[in-house]
Amino acid sequence: MHLLVEFTTIRYGFNNVIDTFHVVGQGEVPKRFYIDERKENKGIRITDEFTNLLNRQQFVNLPQEVEARWRLVETAWELGVSRSLVSIGYDKNSESLFALDKRKRRKSVTGSRDALNGYQKGKCFYCFTDIYIDVSSSLYPDVDHFFPHTLKQQGFSGIIDGIWNLVLSCQKCNRGAGGKFDRIPTIRLLERLHRRNEFLISSHHPLRETLIQQTGASEMQRSEFLNGFHSKAWVTLIHQWEPEEKDAPYF
Ligand SMILES: [Zn+2]
Repeated sequence: MHLLVEFTTIRYGFNNVIDTFHVVGQGEVPKRFYIDERKENKGIRITDEFTNLLNRQQFVNLPQEVEARWRLVETAWELGVSRSLVSIGYDKNSESLFALDKRKRRKSVTGSRDALNGYQKGKCFYCFTDIYIDVSSSLYPDVDHFFPHTLKQQGFSGIIDGIWNLVLSCQKCNRGAGGKFDRIPTIRLLERLHRRNEFLISSHHPLRETLIQQTGASEMQRSEFLNGFHSKAWVTLIHQWEPEEKDAPYF
């Protein structure tokens, strides 16, 4: 509830957020989290669905995700450029997302975990075990390079640090016993990555333009990009990896 009240204090783009919040993919999501009564009552009414959403364990990470989404949109306005021209980069040291201003200076935007978690709904990308975006939690996820970061030293062109290649992984999958380390995820997991990227693009997520810039303008080009990358990376690093899933697939 606190979150939505905050929205009202933001001057610019409020109307836009209210109108687009429920729109996912081609249509509106079936459950409404609030009713738009701006015309009648100059406000919005929060529904039971929103309260249910906040109470459910898997949505504990939701406020950060919405905040991250918001920061991404807001950054485009602050930089004074259209959203289609904003390219969001990943800074490995601070594990945060940044944008470049007109003078090519970095402007920090948001934590990468908050932004990436929206699609993953509080689950590890690989095994679907719970993750929790709180640094003091044992379930705090790693920001994982799907195609290992080591490829950067092996002459790979393409942006290894690009959003397209970043997912949230439980610590065990990334670096625990039997973990991924520098192995290549299987084709099945590659398809999951493709679905994730396509979802963000088709739902007009603020990272949409960045993903298009990094991987291609059409779905076919993006699919070819991922498959081509996978083939080359496999030849280079040889070993493939896939974990045992801890839960039913969420995405
Ligand atoms: Zn995992």
